[in-house]
Amino acid sequence: MKTTFEIAIFEGDGIGPEIMAPTLDLLRGLAVEGGYDFSFKDAPAGAAHYQQTGDSFPAASMATARGADAILLSAMGLPDVRYPDGTEISPQIDLRKALTLFAGVRPVTIRPGQPTPLATDKPVDFVLIRESTEGLFYTQGRGEVEADEARETLRITRAISEPLFKFAFDLAASRKAAGRGPGKVTCVDKANVFRAFAFFREMFDAEAARHPDIAADHAYVDATALWMVERPWTFDVMVTENMFGDILSDLGAGLMGGLGLAPSADIGHDHAVFQPCHGSAPDIAGQGVANPMAMILSAAMMLDWLGARNGVDAMTADGARLRDAVDRVVAERRVLTRDLGGTAGTADVAMAVKEALS
Ligand code: ATP
Ligand code: MG
Repeated sequence: MKTTFEIAIFEGDGIGPEIMAPTLDLLRGLAVEGGYDFSFKDAPAGAAHYQQTGDSFPAASMATARGADAILLSAMGLPDVRYPDGTEISPQIDLRKALTLFAGVRPVTIRPGQPTPLATDKPVDFVLIRESTEGLFYTQGRGEVEADEARETLRITRAISEPLFKFAFDLAASRKAAGRGPGKVTCVDKANVFRAFAFFREMFDAEAARHPDIAADHAYVDATALWMVERPWTFDVMVTENMFGDILSDLGAGLMGGLGLAPSADIGHDHAVFQPCHGSAPDIAGQGVANPMAMILSAAMMLDWLGARNGVDAMTADGARLRDAVDRVVAERRVLTRDLGGTAGTADVAMAVKEALS
């Protein structure tokens, strides 16, 4: 059994290095106890690297990412460092394209003690899967613009949709096995209006038929937006097109009371990137006050994915332990950063999570 894992580390810009260091420290501790091993490979890239070298994403860093078992990324890009044509520096988007990371995974979890605009104390824990390579983003930057008309294309393919739906049902099954969900996948679309979405739904139904033990249903995207606010606890796994997923994942972040506790994963056939939903937060960089929890929760998703993929049960169990430890620190409300209403620093929070593990 494979027990040593090479992880490419993109610590990037702004608060990136500050939240990455304590996360790697937690992972090292878990690995020692769990009988598996990490080899962390630094992959320089991002806006500061561009400023220093004129190259935002060196070929060597891409090679490190390709060769790794998984990729951990904290944050890349700075608002005032751009390419000469004015576009933002975001190597994470290059990674998504180069490695065909088609499934954007965004857990929406509202823990006890977590600030949320929802007036409910029901626990919310569902996962939004956003297709990330085609859909309405397919013509990104290549739309047709004429004097009095502009067009973009909505593209849905079998090559991407079939593995996307398989991933969604497998995730629902593993959540069910772990006691985290009832085992249900909701296809979010607009199949009543667009033929491309009827096609999307057909492929979803075909995959659903292969999973008799997992429930499957459909919802229109507009109704989904309403239900995410009115009764979010009824969702388990939700899978949708790129643009719909883009919008719904911000709605999800809103329900979670901000970005400080929002992890994500971008998953393909052979590669996966795990990173917090927030950006590089240059306004608080270098002060030691950034919340490391979204980064830590992203690392927990990496443990889930690597553990399941390689049959390392100790790793899968550690993913759950790490999440439970964060839950406990949030619920106690004793050691929290400013974004969650506390006064603690990054290192204090990381230490509290470490203590909550044991
Ligand atoms: P991007 O353009 O990269 O998506 P953004 O400009 O939308 O990023 P962030 O960099 O995520 O935004 O920052 C938005 C706000 O949230 C800032 O005020 C920032 O300080 C705060 N913030 C983001 N991440 C954290 C964190 N981990 N801890 C505390 N505050 C954070
Ligand atoms: Mg920004």
